[in-house]
Amino acid sequence: MPSDCLFCRIVAGELPSSQIYADDDVVAIRDIAPQAPTHVLLLARKHVASVRELGPEQAGLMDRLFAAGAKLAEQEGVAADGYRLVVNVGRNGGQTVDHLHVHMLGGRPMTWPPG
Ligand code: AMP
Ligand code: ZN
Repeated sequence: MPSDCLFCRIVAGELPSSQIYADDDVVAIRDIAPQAPTHVLLLARKHVASVRELGPEQAGLMDRLFAAGAKLAEQEGVAADGYRLVVNVGRNGGQTVDHLHVHMLGGRPMTWPPG
């Protein structure tokens, strides 16, 4: 685990977070700067910098991150009205933390195209 990675430190419990779900592959926390009434981050438990680094070792990981997002959208009560699952990749994609994660945003209408 990269000792300077913010999300690795959160997953390890070294930094505080509001965790709402965890399993063998995924840790879900509330975003510290929510962009919607519900804004959950689905973190990969193991460090992967971004989807660019996904390889055969991580087979099925994105499925599990998205499935956890879908399950939590139901639990949080935003699924019926619709929500958004987002993965930012690299600088132009708006990625600010280089540890694989999916955003689950809901509770308000989203605009398209994204900014
Ligand atoms: P991204 O820009 O896609 O890399 O997403 C990183 C997200 O992490 C942003 O939405 C930040 O608000 C969020 N974030 C940064 N630091 C923390 C933290 N300590 N706890 C929870 N969320 C955080
Ligand atoms: Zn990490």
